[in-house]
Amino acid sequence: MFEQELRKARNIGIVAHIDAGKTTTTERILFHTGKVHKLGTVDSGTATMDWMEQEQERGITITSAATYCGWRGHSINIIDTPGHVDFTVEVERSMRVLDGLVVVFCAVGGVQPQTETVWRQANKYRIPRIIFVNKLDRSGADYFRCIEQVETKFGAAPVAVAIPYYKEGAPAGVVDLVTMELEVSDPDAKFGARRMPLPEELVESANEWRVKMLERLSDFDDGIAEKFLEDEEITSEQIYCAMRRATIEDGLMPVMCGTSAKDIGVQLLLNAVVDYLPSPLDVPPVEGIDSKTGQKMTRRPSVDEPLAALAFKIAKEPHVGHITYLRVYSGTIRKNSKVFNANSCKKDRVTRILRMHANRREELEELTAGSIGAVVGLKTVDTGDTLTTETEPILLENITFPEPVISVAIEPESKGDYQKMTGALHELVKEDPTFRSETNGDLEQTVISGMGELHLEIIVDRLKREFNVLTTVGKPKVAFKETITREIEAEGSYVKQSGGSGHFAKVRLRLEPLEPGSGFEFEEQVKGGEVPQEYFAAVRRGVEEAMKAGVVGQYPVIDVKAILLGGAFHEVDSNEQAFRIAASMAFRDAMKRGRPVLKEPIMNVKITMPDEYVGGVMQDISSRRGRIAEMELATGNFRELSANVPLSEMFGYSTVLRNNTQGRAGFSMEFHSYQQVPESLSEMMIKKGA
Ligand code: GDP
Repeated sequence: MFEQELRKARNIGIVAHIDAGKTTTTERILFHTGKVHKLGTVDSGTATMDWMEQEQERGITITSAATYCGWRGHSINIIDTPGHVDFTVEVERSMRVLDGLVVVFCAVGGVQPQTETVWRQANKYRIPRIIFVNKLDRSGADYFRCIEQVETKFGAAPVAVAIPYYKEGAPAGVVDLVTMELEVSDPDAKFGARRMPLPEELVESANEWRVKMLERLSDFDDGIAEKFLEDEEITSEQIYCAMRRATIEDGLMPVMCGTSAKDIGVQLLLNAVVDYLPSPLDVPPVEGIDSKTGQKMTRRPSVDEPLAALAFKIAKEPHVGHITYLRVYSGTIRKNSKVFNANSCKKDRVTRILRMHANRREELEELTAGSIGAVVGLKTVDTGDTLTTETEPILLENITFPEPVISVAIEPESKGDYQKMTGALHELVKEDPTFRSETNGDLEQTVISGMGELHLEIIVDRLKREFNVLTTVGKPKVAFKETITREIEAEGSYVKQSGGSGHFAKVRLRLEPLEPGSGFEFEEQVKGGEVPQEYFAAVRRGVEEAMKAGVVGQYPVIDVKAILLGGAFHEVDSNEQAFRIAASMAFRDAMKRGRPVLKEPIMNVKITMPDEYVGGVMQDISSRRGRIAEMELATGNFRELSANVPLSEMFGYSTVLRNNTQGRAGFSMEFHSYQQVPESLSEMMIKKGA
């Protein structure tokens, strides 16, 4: 029984380049599945999914809101994901918990830079996807060019399962190539659309595209291939079945089209979600480790297995408090029950369970394996934590988030608001794992860091609106890091033995540079008990503390391995504090002599512009220490330039680009890597940045 229900569940995300029509499409879906009684539109600022005030004003989706709807007896959880790169973290965490994706493209813009980012993320998690090419009504719309781009730019295997129907130059419906019917929008019909037999004038082109569809499907399915070659009849059932398997297992991507603003093609899309995207039973069992023994284990999506759930988002809701969004992989989570947090090793209690519908909520008694929902009451949980049982604990892989690359100093306008601001920042840090806030005790200065200028602007805006704290904000600064470039050994000793109980610790360390992006590693190779085991953790902590401020410009240190080689201790005077201090001293000494360098965030910048501006834009990018990686033909006479440019050179770039191209170019930017600052600039940067 449970399994039958689970087969009818879908956990999907809708992703798109900003403005492709993701919010509009989601709205239509919710409207037709009967969850919204009044249709919101993005332009009038009433869209149901974009519920945060700022989102409505800016017309973009920032936080991913999970919502639920039903279609053809199936239950569909939709996670709305934002399009702007500064919020990739939202996309990333959604990807982690979803089983299938709808990728929305604009029929005019086609594959745009940001779609590529999302596409790469989806590849990383191997998420099956279907494609919806929207905005067929816009002039210059080209459905088939879009499909071609998906194939050439992504090396993917798209297959058209629908083609557009234009009447008197305007889109009037879509042809379903599986059933060979025409779907037209009809405001009076139950779900806003009606199906009818193919009009005579469409039969020929529909047949032609159906053959192409079957040819492509034959590459993926032997049964269909055989029938196709023998010219035997292939039923709709056989097509659905083969298409579904190939989409889920082999990366085939059914493509359809429409104009969601006018209700064209939306039903076909909903059908495709049900027909082609996987249920929780169709995806591999989730993997984790036994948090007691460290052994690898998996959990099936079954209520008979012990609980395994991943907290993928924490948000604060007015009148409710903190809610934690969960994907339950196995077992059941019940209202008023205790759960075990495998990350903090603490017990916690669920007091309420909610199914979220963007800005409305429904109370539930339980959440079972395979579902997505929100719970209230959890106190010990951070984003990425696993909820499980104490007796049979599993630890699922945490969600990895990128390090912030940009920071600004902020200060409350009124000194009296200092406490309030600190509390608010604490809340925001809890919600957003790519946002940091640090207060420098001596200077009483608060510095917030995030993934881009827009990210931090939104935070400052939220401080004002949600927490009533007005702040003054400094100039944005790049988050520099430091590292060493050679292996080096050093000693640190902390000895104070002047009567009474003293301190004694000597630490010998080796530091080794690690590959970029590796972070920090710690190892001990102590021989003959020179440093007793009980002090290893203190040594590690001492190193970690020292890494917070390096020796070049006091920036955090990354990509190093510290190896504890040995040292000395004293039976009476040694203690953890002494080892911590000695380790810090050894680290700082090693760092100084390890040819330390400054590292800066390099961004991957993509610029789309008309031909005539290419020369000027390239020159400008070079003058910003940018390295051109690629230049491609985009659509029409547009070119797309890809370059790696230091973030410190990109502040205010949107204005410059607008001025240089009469506003005809667009650009996106995402974090690429940390790279060494040229030595000639290092000193100047530290002066500028400090
Ligand atoms: P998102 O950024 O991907 O969520 O896109 P939105 O749903 O916010 O849509 C962006 C803009 O495109 C809005 O002005 C919509 O009204 C408009 N839009 C959405 N769907 C269509 C469509 O099918 N045709 C046309 N012409 N405009 C559309």
